[in-house]
Amino acid sequence: MLDARNLHKSYGDKAVLRGVDLSIRPGQVKAMLGPSGSGKSTTLRLINLLERADAGTIEIDGKQLGFTGRADAPRPAPERILAKQRQVVGMVFQQFNLFPHLNAVRNVMSGLTTVRRASHKEAEERAVMMLERVGLGAHAHKYPSELSGGQQQRVAIARALVMDPKLMLFDEPTSALDPELVGEVLRVMEDLAREGMTMLVVTHETRFARRVADEVVLFDEGVIVEQQEPEGFFENPRNKRTKEFLRHVH
Ligand code: ADP
Ligand code: MG
Repeated sequence: MLDARNLHKSYGDKAVLRGVDLSIRPGQVKAMLGPSGSGKSTTLRLINLLERADAGTIEIDGKQLGFTGRADAPRPAPERILAKQRQVVGMVFQQFNLFPHLNAVRNVMSGLTTVRRASHKEAEERAVMMLERVGLGAHAHKYPSELSGGQQQRVAIARALVMDPKLMLFDEPTSALDPELVGEVLRVMEDLAREGMTMLVVTHETRFARRVADEVVLFDEGVIVEQQEPEGFFENPRNKRTKEFLRHVH
């Protein structure tokens, strides 16, 4: 489903990604762990076409992102094509990024009526359905300021899901939440995983990674230093950096 090869990215003379290879099969859930500054968010931003890699390729379902034309003669994609490619990937951020002046249902609808040009009625129906799916049917007409952090993040998840993405990216979705609100967001994500969504999740929640992920990867200084199924990752890491990292989070 996703195949990223040899991603490189620098800001000025700081090399942030130094050859990241990352692939994910349909229905697979991958957890991305690693110290702050190791390149996790940058990797997600490249996959979501928020930024362009200096080198390397990203394919989704065999199509190279950010480019158009035949595989042997790709050209940089114009903004119109990029906008279309972005729709294949849903993203949820640490700071929910909801529109404060729109209620929950309007927030969830926004992409459908603008990017997808759905009718107001159809968009509203799908948005309400999606809010029910994340347990917020009763809060559909509340504004972000009237919702808890956990509820806001669930609205953000519904807003991504309503676009029917093939792949969902989560960038520390519970890091900004009070501890008592973390569980409700992780439960929604776990349901989503069980329903077969393909997911890439940057998280510090090691218990979640262990229970829900099919594979766990460790980023360190712009490369992936370890990648294996959860039990091996947590019980029997191969890399010295993983052992050190786990000592700090446990
Ligand atoms: P992580 O998500 O693992 O904490 P990031 O991918 O956010 O790491 O960042 C990796 C490094 O890249 C950090 O040192 C960060 O300061 C730097 N960085 C990220 N985005 C930018 C940017 N837009 N301009 C300059 N430096 C950046
Ligand atoms: Mg980050």
